[in-house]
Amino acid sequence: MIGPEKNALTPHEVEIDIEVVSAPLEAIAAALGPGGIAGARSAGRWAGLVEEARRLFRRHAAPRGLLAEISTDQFAALYQGDGHNAPETPLGEIFPRAAHLALFAATIGAGVHRALDELFAGHEFPLAILLDAAASEGADRAGEAVARHYREQLEARRIEAGESPGGRDAGVRDAGVRDTVVRDAGVRDAVARGGPGTPVPLACLRYSPGYCGWNISGQRALFAALKPERIGITLRPSMLMEPLKSVSGVVVGGRPEIHRFADRYPFCADCRTHGCRERIRKVLESGSGGRA
Ligand code: SF4
Repeated sequence: MIGPEKNALTPHEVEIDIEVVSAPLEAIAAALGPGGIAGARSAGRWAGLVEEARRLFRRHAAPRGLLAEISTDQFAALYQGDGHNAPETPLGEIFPRAAHLALFAATIGAGVHRALDELFAGHEFPLAILLDAAASEGADRAGEAVARHYREQLEARRIEAGESPGGRDAGVRDAGVRDTVVRDAGVRDAVARGGPGTPVPLACLRYSPGYCGWNISGQRALFAALKPERIGITLRPSMLMEPLKSVSGVVVGGRPEIHRFADRYPFCADCRTHGCRERIRKVLESGSGGRA
């Protein structure tokens, strides 16, 4: 259990610009999937409807994010949750190798849901479906914005401490390798070279309850520690969040390689997307790969 006062976390709110969470048409189409696109197109006003959905989203969304660093030991206790996780999970293997861990939550707020309710009540289904897709994509983008904020915070901390480039090893636990901030392209090459003076990149990736063996009941311990209620997110008895278009979990920071794993866990047999493959590829390339 996260515990009494001395182990209490210190969450801070992360500002998220509406522009960051407003998805372009292509992203909304991707969130809809082929069936949803066909339904929206059948309404005959596809482009106009998407623009209207984007306008409604920008009018009603109020994105907010919350972040709190947590120690490895604290997270190990929290990750136990109610004891319903799969025996072996990617996150269970990854987090002990991380240099930085932070609980997070993010939401696009309740206003979009009220707009959705009105659309459904008025039988404006194509527009409601598009707004719903924009909201799902917006919530994910809000989560990514919080993870990006954490990564930037960590990098700034390393620079302030004089630990980049060419400074002493810090931030990333890798004895014998000097610590340098590396962004974006070239990360994989830099890591592959190895040896003294090699830049040590910092890669942050999100992991959430309900995915990849982390049982959804883990939300209970996460909420008890992070208290996302302060940004307007509550937990339903079903473990779904209110507002529904919210995301939560842990941001894991460390060398890109710590996020690499084979998709051969028993639960992977039931996975339709194997989305971890793309996220790992992205994180190895750029240090940020979305949620796993
Ligand atoms: S294959 Fe699916 S269930 Fe398995 S780790 Fe990847 S995303 Fe998770």
